Amino acid sequence: MASLENLNFDNSYLRLPNLFYQQIEPTPLNDPFLIAFNPDVATLLDLDANSVQSADLAKYFSGQALLPGSQPLAMKYTGHQFGVYNPELGDGRGLLLGEVVNSKEERWDLHLKGSGKTAFSRFGDGRAVLRSSIREYLISEAMSGLGIPTTRALALVGSQEKVMRDGMMESCAALLRVTQCHIRFGHFEYLYYSRQHDELKVLADYCLERFYPQFKEADQPYQAMYEEVIQRSAELVAKWQAYGFVHAVLNTDNMSLLGEAFDYGPFSFLDTYKPKLVSNHNDHKGRYAFDRQPEIVQWNLSCLGQALLTLIDKNDVIALLDSYPERYKKAELTEFRRRLGLQADEQGDSELVRELLQLFAQQNVDMNRFFRTLSNFDGSDESIADLMKLISYPSALTPWLLKYEQRLENEPASQPIRKAQMRSVNPQFILRNYMAEEAIRSATDGDFTLVNDLMALLKNPMQDNSAFERYAEAPPEWAGGICLTCSS
Ligand code: AMP
Ligand code: MG
Repeated sequence: MASLENLNFDNSYLRLPNLFYQQIEPTPLNDPFLIAFNPDVATLLDLDANSVQSADLAKYFSGQALLPGSQPLAMKYTGHQFGVYNPELGDGRGLLLGEVVNSKEERWDLHLKGSGKTAFSRFGDGRAVLRSSIREYLISEAMSGLGIPTTRALALVGSQEKVMRDGMMESCAALLRVTQCHIRFGHFEYLYYSRQHDELKVLADYCLERFYPQFKEADQPYQAMYEEVIQRSAELVAKWQAYGFVHAVLNTDNMSLLGEAFDYGPFSFLDTYKPKLVSNHNDHKGRYAFDRQPEIVQWNLSCLGQALLTLIDKNDVIALLDSYPERYKKAELTEFRRRLGLQADEQGDSELVRELLQLFAQQNVDMNRFFRTLSNFDGSDESIADLMKLISYPSALTPWLLKYEQRLENEPASQPIRKAQMRSVNPQFILRNYMAEEAIRSATDGDFTLVNDLMALLKNPMQDNSAFERYAEAPPEWAGGICLTCSS
């Protein structure tokens, strides 16, 4: 295990042509202090969590000092924001500090978000505020706890520095984000639209080598890679739909080539099931509403496909894009089957799911509380009553429940095994906005206990936890009044 000072850096992205990035050091935050540290992510880096000192973490992850081996850079990319191409993007407030290769030969990017201005900051101040950094810190661990591919976070650092957001002064923070892939669809769009097609091939080869070496020897390596990105993206958004997650800013610069949830902003989990929910106050047209996410991901994949046209035949791109709806449908059904405890693959399952989702929408059901409660369903009056409590007009559930009970009869697993399997995929805790808001409010008053408590809770969301039972219940009334915007 390594200390912070001897992490095994090997910065492959820096070996790419200069036009891929700007080499620049972080602008240090004033008087930094450690708010949270995540030992699980330290393990990914072979970093000895017991050896790290809070003061050192604050120093390195506020930009006050550079880790030995780190060679910071701001990545250049572009992308489609709310459907419109923006050539001016890039890391405007974050830097890739470098890549750490662990003993399993896994290569992890260390990215410091909130690290000051770069060549791509445009009108921004290069900072991230405490509020949004806490949200990203918590959601990345919450996602990971749910088994949804995501970027992670190693540490969260606060400071006394303030910046203006929506007319108010807010504290700055910095988040050390860790993932194997910071390559966005927008990286390819940049090279395609600026007609740097040789360099685009260099990037594609880099991605093949680094993320998809299994396709290097394929007949059509770029096509195979694109197909894999389509498949992973379909699986990712299927998970979001199955767990009621709204990303809210699904621009192509927020889409990872590895199919991870990426660049969290004004996201939400649905409290009650509202398919049309828009979680970003600035999204006036509802482009990124919950129920539009699957088609938006396909649209984003078409942008990636367009950018790959110098490497893949147009007809192949179109054929692959056309295969997306079927891949998505399959992935979605897989997710819901798991949540319903159905292992066998039966004809009527798709309809069973559709009917349940309709019921959720009509009866204001909290889908996550419903699935958790369903995990204890055994046909007894008590277990039925528990479910009925979650439905506006309880009798509306009866026909579906009868169908489900019948369907369960064809399942090979015994009831205790099914229940345990369901409890392992149906969380007791999800990160509801009001929970993040409570943590943010106490953090603003200088108390970071709840940030750390929620982190511990959400890491293991399937486990009951009597100390935090209230978070498994319906959200308080004020939760409905939380307003989320792009400002972060
Ligand atoms: P996001 O909405 O966080 O995905 O950011 C979109 C683009 O705006 C990216 O290029 C960011 O780097 C940039 N950006 C966002 N906030 C800031 C900021 N405060 N300062 C500079 N650039 C920013
Ligand atoms: Mg972004």
